[in-house]
Parts: sequence; C-alpha cells; structure tokens
Amino acid sequence: MPTMTLRKLLITSALPYANGAIHLGHLVEYIQTDIWVRFQKMRGHECWYVCADDTHGTPIMLRAEKEGITPEQLIERVHAEHSRDFAGFHVAFDNYYTTHSNETRDYAVEIYGKLKAADLIAVRAVEQFYDPLKQMFLPDRFIKGNCPKCGAKDQYGDSCEVCGAVYAPTDLNNPYSALSGAKPELRNSEHFFFKLSDPRCQAFLRQWTRSEDRLQPEAANKMQEWLGAENENKLSDWDISRDAPYFGFEIPDAPGKYFYVWLDAPVGYMGSFRNLCAQRGLDFDAFWRKDSSVELIHFIGKDILYFHALFWPAMLEYTGYRTPSKIFAHGFLTVDGAKMSKSRGTFITAESYLAQGLNPEWLRYYYAAKLNGTMEDIDLNLGDFVARVNSDLIGKYINIASRSANFIASHFSSQLLDENFDERFRSDLPDLALAADEIAAHYEARDYGRAIRRIMGLADQVNQYVDHHQPWKLARHGGKERELHVVCTMLINAFRLLTLYLKPVLPKLAQRAEEFLNIAPLVWADAGHLLPPSHLINSYEHLMQRIDAKQIEALVAANRESLTPSPVAQPEPHSPQRHAQHQQHPENNMQTPTRPVAPAISIDDFGKIDLRIARIADAQHVEGADKLIRLSLDLGEGSTRQVFAGIKSAYDPARLVGRLTVMVANLAPRKMKFGLSEGMVLAASDVDGETPGLFLLSPDSGATPGMRVK
Ligand SMILES: [Zn+2]
Repeated sequence: MPTMTLRKLLITSALPYANGAIHLGHLVEYIQTDIWVRFQKMRGHECWYVCADDTHGTPIMLRAEKEGITPEQLIERVHAEHSRDFAGFHVAFDNYYTTHSNETRDYAVEIYGKLKAADLIAVRAVEQFYDPLKQMFLPDRFIKGNCPKCGAKDQYGDSCEVCGAVYAPTDLNNPYSALSGAKPELRNSEHFFFKLSDPRCQAFLRQWTRSEDRLQPEAANKMQEWLGAENENKLSDWDISRDAPYFGFEIPDAPGKYFYVWLDAPVGYMGSFRNLCAQRGLDFDAFWRKDSSVELIHFIGKDILYFHALFWPAMLEYTGYRTPSKIFAHGFLTVDGAKMSKSRGTFITAESYLAQGLNPEWLRYYYAAKLNGTMEDIDLNLGDFVARVNSDLIGKYINIASRSANFIASHFSSQLLDENFDERFRSDLPDLALAADEIAAHYEARDYGRAIRRIMGLADQVNQYVDHHQPWKLARHGGKERELHVVCTMLINAFRLLTLYLKPVLPKLAQRAEEFLNIAPLVWADAGHLLPPSHLINSYEHLMQRIDAKQIEALVAANRESLTPSPVAQPEPHSPQRHAQHQQHPENNMQTPTRPVAPAISIDDFGKIDLRIARIADAQHVEGADKLIRLSLDLGEGSTRQVFAGIKSAYDPARLVGRLTVMVANLAPRKMKFGLSEGMVLAASDVDGETPGLFLLSPDSGATPGMRVK
C-alpha cells in the first residue's frame, strides 16, 4: 500500500427531530454516513462521528401537551427510541446527544452574542396571527382557512393543497387556529433577525458556496439560484426568534423570546462534539477554531441545504469559528417507485423492520448498492431487494466460505496450506488484491454502488474459479489432497479479501467472518497481504440467511395503516420535522401525490378523442354488479346512450340524475355482462389510494349537452 497522509475528520449526520420514529427514509442518511465513517476508520484516519436529537420547537411542545407529559419527558423517551433504532442498524456514532443540553445552549448564546456585536442582528415588529384561546402566536402551519385563490376550504397558512397557490397566512379567508378552532387575531410582536441581506454576508456566501468543492455541483448551482446574480441581493433576513410559549432556549436579555429551533439545531453538532471532548479528552478548539485543518463534513438530505449551506456557514463565519469543509447532500427514498405510503404499508419504521426479524445488514447492503454520491433519489424496490441480497450476498459471497470451510476442517484439521501463497494467488486470482485502491476510491467518493459492483465482479471471478476446480470432485478422488488444499486455501484468502472490502457496509457480518477466519479486525492495509502459511481457521457457522419474500410481505402488512385523516395540525414548513424526515411523511408533505405522467401524444392523437358534455338522464343500480351504475346519457342527439360506470362506491344513483358530466362519445361500444356500454364518463381518482374516492367531472354552468370538450 502507498503511504498515506493521515487525516482528521469530524463527521455529522442531520439531527432527527424528536417527535417521531426513525424510518427507512431516515436510514438512507445514517447508513450512508456510517459506511463512510467506518471506511475512514479502516483507513487509519482519526475520525469522529457525532449526532444528536433535535429537540426544540412548537411541534414538540404540542405533542408533549397532547400526551400529558413535559417536553423533557417526551424528548428523553424519543432519545432512547432513536438510540435503540440506530444501534439496531449498526450506525456507530461516537456520540449521540441532544440539543437540549448546556453545551448547545452555551454555543447558541455565544454565537447570538457575537452576531449581535458584529451588528448582524436586527429587531423588527412582525404582524402575526395569535390564538386568543391557546394564548400563543401561531406558526403558518397551525393556521387554516379558505384558499384566497381557489376558495378551497381548510388549507394551511402557507400554501393551498388544491390549487398549489403560495401565500401568507394573512391572505387566507376565514382563518382559524388549527389548535383551538378560534378565530386568530393579528398582533404585533418583536422578532430578532439575522441580517443575511447584509452585503458582508452576501459577498461571503457567494465566495464560500463556490470555492473548494465544498458542495456537489448540483448543490452549488442551487445556491447560485438562491443568491442571484452578482449585483442582486436576493437573500432576506432570517427570523431567528419565536415568542413564548415555546420549547427551546430563551434569548438572553429578551424575556419571553426564544431561539427558533433552526438556530440551535446545527449548533447541536458543536454541543454533541463538546460533550464527546469531555468524554475522550479531545481538544474542542483544535476542531472548531478558524484555522483548523480538521475536515468538518456534514451529511444531509437535499431538503435542508438552505440551512446548511447558507445560514450555518454565515453564523460560523462571523463568530470566529471555522466553516464546514464539505456538505454531502443525498436524495430521498422511494419504495417501489413511489413516495413512502402508510396506506400501502411502505412507510416502514426502523423498529418494525427489526421486529419482523429482518437482518439490518440486508438493508445496509441494498442501500449501498444504490447510492452513488449524488443528490438523486434512491428507490427501494422490494422485489429487487430480496433478489439482490439472495443472489449477491448469499449466492456469490457467503457461498465462497461455506463451499471451502468444511473441506479445510475435515481434510486438513482446519489448517491452511503450509506455503507462502502470494505468487500463486496473484497468478490465479490477479484482480482480487489489486482492486483495493480502486474500491477505496469509490468509497471515498461515496459512490458505494460502484464499489459494490466491483466487489461482486470479484466474487464472480472467485466463483468461476470454484466451478473450474470443483473442490467437491477433488475431495472424492484419492490422491488429489494437495490440489484440494490449494484450492480451498485460495478460496479462504479470497473470502477474507472480499470481507475486507465489504466491511464498511457489513460490519457485523465482517466481525463474525473475522472470528471464523481467526484474525484480528481487518483494516484497509490488510489488503496488501494474505493469511500466513499454515494459518488455523475456526469451524464455519452459517454467516447469513437468505431473505424469504414472505418476510417482506409480512413487513408491509405490519406497516399498513387504515386511512384515517389526522386531526393534529402539522408543523410549520421550515420546522426540522418536515426537513429531517425528507418530506416523506405524507402528513408533512404539502404536495399532492403525483404519478409519472404518461408518454407524450400529439395533438392529432388527442383530437381523435371526442369528448362531449352529457346530461345524466337516468341512473340505476345494476343487479349483481358491485361497482357499476347504469347511466342513461343525453348528448342532445334526441336519444340517450347507455354507459356502465364503475362509480357505485362514490355515488348514489338518485343524486346523479340531472347533473352534467363529461363523456368519451366515440369509444367503441363494448359488450358487458349486463349489456352494451356505449361510451365512458370521466372521473378523477388517486390511483395510489392516498385519497380515497372518485370524483366525477362536471362543466362550469352554462354548458349544454352535446358540446364538444377540447
Ligand atoms: Zn387553492
């Protein structure tokens, strides 16, 4: 191995919000970070991995109130749950702390004081909705009312889920508090702002976001969009205070004012590390002072780039601290090509995955195989998950050990060949040791998918070697003992190297493999040599089970929830909950679920469809049909057409008579069990089943039967 300069690294993952369970979407980030940290440690670098629960804000306060406990009790319970879930997936933090700590408070207060001294804090009155019953100011997401644009009822204070309009809560018609139902009052309150619009901040961030490859190219581009052109001033000041009652840190010299949760959340990285320093005798300043040579690296979801690439470096820059060296953003998780969904059972918690007896390393392996270091979303395809784990991990990798270990035990008293094996190994399996640097480069670039493909390619080579030499045949014929010993020693050495390469992804399996191989924990430099002659191995015990597809079915069934609308108001859009959960929680998502749009058609294709306004002249139940209603449609032709429509679940026939709708008038008539259907009426439905129901189309008033729709 070439000699390397040893690095010092401080690594973080984003802080999960302390009011909900860890789910498979979160785990993309923690597994991705953990693999990188383990890889760096295997390389011999000094590397510290810290994280914490993000514990402040209105949603936590209200959740605790609803449960009848204090916020402190809530966050303590959630901290234990999160710690258990991360440990269950072998995510090995050096410290997993909480933002509700003296350390975090001290740094938050210090940073605020220094920003103030640098004339970067402004105080301004803000007019805001106030709930007179709950006696509190309402975050945007806790105000509901009628959309000012389309009139839809019960829309949130920041955007309309029906028409997509974005607006201020004060624009809503008939606003009400989602907490108490009371009519909110507009009141003035003084808020504290971090002056991001200050020319100093603008100039600093412009330079910072562009230099030294701190951000991935796509993230750097996004930042340029937010910052605007050179002569523009697009950043506005950032509101960093909230009024009591609020669960958080009170701002010094400002009774009743609290730091907004997003101010102290990133400060929690410092707080957690400070706490680790006390445990391990590390020098905090060496990691955080301005001229520090330590690499500070944040792994985050792409949805919280704004906070980590703008607010956070600016906070650090003007308070005498160093700024992050790199920000590694990743995409979201989809399951079977769609957003995680409670109704489909694909909103899977870490706890339920483990409770179903599924091996956490299966998921670590699958995520690794999918990750490539970009901000692209990754898909957990459940069928592919089963197939890939079984074919790669069991079929290609584990099999190498199981196919050779028993011969070594039964024929050679568990001892490898008594000769230096290097030359023979290099000539028979040349790629295996040589690939170490290449695989390391893929891990370093977070292109784990490429590393996995390379490693599995090596495993294929080893399996071809097995098929070529057929050790089971050698074992059957007398006189082939030495040849059998060579082949099996070759395979055990190959298995050891593959284990080394997979170790960042599969730490537990690697540990068991090391016990079987009777060796010290593998580090990356061990790729430079083989096992010594006559090395003794331990007896082989099966290292990993195959996944049974039935286990996945059971997992999905266990996570499937019946559709019940949530009565609880949702957190404000910039709250960490929405961000830390990568917007996958359907209740937190302001977007309507979307399906990919069908392939493009020409205007001529569309022109072939003759859509007409039809009046429902009659509607009847169909005997023996569960879903159908028989419609008689009047197109102004002087006669009616019979259409069978699958809308019985949503409509009472009697209430349909007389209304106008839209029909496909030139659909070829179709013979059905109950009679001829001469067309089709148009209805909307959510094919994903998130929003149950069917919605028949109707024209605006004034349309008459027979009019063409185009
Ligand atoms: Zn609207």
